[in-house]
Amino acid sequence: MSDNLPYTENEKGEFAIPCQIKIAKDCVQLGQFCETKEEARDWVEEECWISSGEGHFCVQCNDQVLRNIANLQTKKMN
Ligand SMILES: [Zn+2]
Repeated sequence: MSDNLPYTENEKGEFAIPCQIKIAKDCVQLGQFCETKEEARDWVEEECWISSGEGHFCVQCNDQVLRNIANLQTKKMN
């Protein structure tokens, strides 16, 4: 797996993966800080974040994306 994913590092040198799109009102914004990038990635995978290939986004944002698509489809039908 490539490791060109975006990480946020805190003052303790811990890593967290930020939500890539941040479009949901209740977006998590940032994953949990972990000692290693691997653990940070494991955390978002356990939280079922969606991998876009270039990053990850949270379940809340995924729901928002799906709602947006559903809204577009509804509009087309009317
Ligand atoms: Zn999000």
